[in-house]
Amino acid sequence: MSKGRVIIIGGGLAGWRAAEAAVALGASVTLVANGDGNSPHIHALNCPVLPEDSVELFVEDTLRCGRYGADRALVETMCRESLQLRGQYDFDGTVIRPLGCSVARCVSIRHAIGAIALAEIKKALKDDVDVESRTVTPEEVQALHSAEPQSRIIIATGGWCGKYSFSTNPSYLKGDGLLMAEVLGAATRGVDDVHVQYEPTVRVEGPRRGVPVITTLLHEGARLLDIKGNEYADAARLNKDELSGAILANGGTATYDLSAVPEGKLLECNMDPSERIIKVAPAPHSSLGGIVIDTQCHALDCDGNPVPGIFACGEVTAGVHGLNRMGGNGGTAAMVFGTIAGRQAATELN
Ligand SMILES: Cc1cc2nc3c(=O)[nH]c(=O)nc-3n(C[C@H](O)[C@H](O)[C@H](O)COP(=O)(O)OP(=O)(O)OC[C@H]3O[C@@H](n4cnc5c(N)ncnc54)[C@H](O)[C@@H]3O)c2cc1C
Repeated sequence: MSKGRVIIIGGGLAGWRAAEAAVALGASVTLVANGDGNSPHIHALNCPVLPEDSVELFVEDTLRCGRYGADRALVETMCRESLQLRGQYDFDGTVIRPLGCSVARCVSIRHAIGAIALAEIKKALKDDVDVESRTVTPEEVQALHSAEPQSRIIIATGGWCGKYSFSTNPSYLKGDGLLMAEVLGAATRGVDDVHVQYEPTVRVEGPRRGVPVITTLLHEGARLLDIKGNEYADAARLNKDELSGAILANGGTATYDLSAVPEGKLLECNMDPSERIIKVAPAPHSSLGGIVIDTQCHALDCDGNPVPGIFACGEVTAGVHGLNRMGGNGGTAAMVFGTIAGRQAATELN
C-alpha cells in the first residue's frame, strides 16, 4: 500500500497553513477548495508583541471575551503558539486594540495580513501542492476516507455565516465541513444561532453592502449614533456581541460617524477618507461552534476519541472562541491550528 497523502479541504489560511506544515515534513499534499473563503479579508490578527502583554494575559482576554465558554486547552495552545508568528511574518509595527482586548495586540502587514500571507504561502508552495478548484461533497469525503485509509484528511472549510442573507461572508461558506464531520463520525458542538458572532458595524447600503467598517476606529475618534442620533458613548469599551446587541435592540441600524478620525488612520485602514458618514447594522460574521477537536487538531467522536485519519482546523472547529470571538482571534486561530493540523497529519501518515 502506498504511503498515502494529506488531503486538505479548504483553501483559506487554515487550509494553506496546514499545507505548508505538511509539505515541510515531506508529505504529498492535495488541497481542494471552491474559493479563498474569508481569509483574504483579515486585516490584522492577535499576537502578543508589546512588553505589557503576555501569553497569560492573551489567554485571560480570550476566555473573558468568550464569556468563559471556550476550551481552555485550545485557547492556551493558540495563545502560546501565536508567538511563532513573530518569527514568520514581518509585522509592520502598528499594534491596535480590538474591542474586548485589555491591551493592544492586533498586528498586521499594511492592514492586509490575510491576503498577503495567503499569497506568500501559495507562491512558495506552487510546485509542491496538488490544487483542485471545486466543491467537495460529504459523500465524496466519506468515499475518500474509505478508499484511502492510509491518507489523512484535514477539514478546513471555514464557517457557516454565508447562509444568512445579510452577512459579511460569501454565500458558499455555509458549513459544508459540518456535514463532512457528520458522515465521518466526528462530533460537532455549538452549531446554532447562539454561536454566531455578529459584526456590529456592517454597511447596509450601496455596492459594498455586507462589508464591515472596522470597529477599532472607535479607538481613533469614530462615533456610533443610534437611529435618533444619540451616541453609544461606551461603544469602544463593549465587546462586539454587546455592541451588536445594543444596536439590534435599538432600531437595528446605526450611523458610523468617522468625521473626527484622522485621515492618515483611514488611509492606513484602506478606507476612503472622503467617506465620513456610513449607515451600518450588525450582521453574522463568524461562526463559533463546529467540529470538536483536541489540541493536535484530531477531530473527536462523541466519546472524545480521535476519529482515525480525520483532522480539522480554523473556523470550522468549536471551542476556541466560546460565545464571543475577540477581534483578531479568527486569523490567529486559522494560522496556528492550520499549522498544527498539517504537522500532525503529516506525522501520522505512516
Ligand atoms: C470581512 C471579514 C473580515 C475579517 N477580518 C478579520 C480580521 O481582521 N482579523 C481576524 O482575526 N479575523 C477576521 N475575520 C475572520 C477570519 O476571516 C476567519 O476567522 C478566518 O479567515 C477563517 O479561516 P479558515 O481558513 O478557517 O476559513 P476560510 O478562510 O473562510 O476558508 C474556508 C475555505 O473552505 C473552502 N470550502 C468551504 N466549503 C467547501 C467545500 N464544500 N468544498 C471545497 N472547499 C470548500 C472555501 O472555499 C475556503 O477556501 C474576518 C472575516 C470576514 C468575513
